[in-house]
Amino acid sequence: MVRLHRDGSRRDTSRRHLAPSLGVHDIAIDLGTANTVVYVGGKGIVASEPSVVAADSFTGEVHAVGFEAERMIGRTPATISATRPLRHGVIADFGVTEQMLRYFIGRAFDRRWAHPRLIVCAPSGVTEVEKRAVEEAALAAGARRVHLIEEPIAAAIGAGIAIGEPVGRMVLDIGGGTSEVAVISMGGIVVSRSVRVGGYEMDEAISHYLRDAHQLAIGSQTAEAIKLQIGSAVPLAQELTMGVRGRHLLTGLPTEIQLNGAEVRQAIRAPMEEILRAIAETLEDTPPELAGDIAREGILLAGGGTLLRGLPELVTDRTGMAVTLAESPLTCVAIGSGQALEHFDQIPSGGARHATITSRRRSS
Ligand code: ADP
Ligand code: MG
Repeated sequence: MVRLHRDGSRRDTSRRHLAPSLGVHDIAIDLGTANTVVYVGGKGIVASEPSVVAADSFTGEVHAVGFEAERMIGRTPATISATRPLRHGVIADFGVTEQMLRYFIGRAFDRRWAHPRLIVCAPSGVTEVEKRAVEEAALAAGARRVHLIEEPIAAAIGAGIAIGEPVGRMVLDIGGGTSEVAVISMGGIVVSRSVRVGGYEMDEAISHYLRDAHQLAIGSQTAEAIKLQIGSAVPLAQELTMGVRGRHLLTGLPTEIQLNGAEVRQAIRAPMEEILRAIAETLEDTPPELAGDIAREGILLAGGGTLLRGLPELVTDRTGMAVTLAESPLTCVAIGSGQALEHFDQIPSGGARHATITSRRRSS
C-alpha cells in the first residue's frame, strides 16, 4: 500500500501523535445532494442544512442558502430561483456550488481564520472531471488545501469501523439522489456500485402515484413529508395514514385526500428494488473471502434514506445479511471525513492508483 502524507512527503510520525490530528483550522464537509453537513475539528458538527441556494436568475446574486433557501423552493417569483446545485451527487451548477461552499465555510469559521484546510466527501461514483470540479469550487471558495475522500470510507470511519483491517465490510449509503454500495477492506474500496436513485426518486414516485391514483398534484416537499410521516419499506404492525393536500387535476381546486402507508410502499417499490438490486450485484462481484467477512459482520447502513421505517428489515430479508444502522446516519459521513485526517496513514492517498483520498493545494 502506498502511504503518503498530506503534502506527499514522508514525515517524522512520532510528532504527529502529540499534535491534535484535526486542528481547529480543519473542516470536513459532506457535500451531499440533499444536505451539506459541516464538521469542525475540536468543535464537532457546526452546520447541517439543505444543499439549496436561492439566487437572482439574472445577476446570480445569492439571496439565501440552506434552510432559508429550501423554504423558497416552488415559491419564488420569476426573478429568483431556488435550486439544488448538486444532482445525483454530482455538481450540476459549478458557480452555485462554489457560492454554497463559501457560505458553509463561512458558517464554520471566523473571518479571521481565512483559508482553512478542507476535506470534502465525494460519492465513489464521481469521475475525475467531477472530482476536479469539487476541488476547484472548494479552492475558489477560499480553502487553502482540499482533500477529497470517498463517501463509503468516510461513512465507515464515522460509524466507528476500523477500516484499516484486512476485513471486508459492506456499506450502503442512501442519500437524496444516489445510493452507494461498497465493499471496503484495508482502507480502500474493493468493489462498489452507485445508482442514481435515492430519497428524491422515492419522493418523485410518491408524486406520480398520487397523480395516477388520486388525480392529485403535490409539490416535492409534500411528497417528502408523506414519506417521512407514513412511508415504510415493509408492512407495519400498525399501518399509518395521513391527510394529504394538493390540487385536484380535474377540478383544479385545492383538495385533501386520505393516504395510507401501504399505498406509499407500493409507490416507492421501483426505486426500492433498484437499490436492492445494487446490493445483490455488489455481493456477486465480491471476492469470496470478503463475502465471508460481510456475512459475519453484516452491512452498515448510512445516509438519510436508510432511516425509512423498516428499511433495515427489508435489506436483511432480501440479502440474508445482518445490518447495522449507523448511530447517526445523516452526519456519520461528515464526522468520518473529519476523523479521516487522523487515519491518514491507513488510507491509500495521493499517488495510489485507486486513491481514496486525493489532495490539491491552492496555487496562488
Ligand atoms: P445526501 O448525502 O445525498 O445529501 P442525506 O444522507 O442527507 O443525503 O439523506 C437525505 C435523504 O434522506 C432525503 O431524501 C430525505 O428525504 C431522506 N430522509 C431523511 N430522513 C428520513 C427518514 N426518517 N425516513 C426516510 N427518509 C429520510
Ligand atoms: Mg450523503
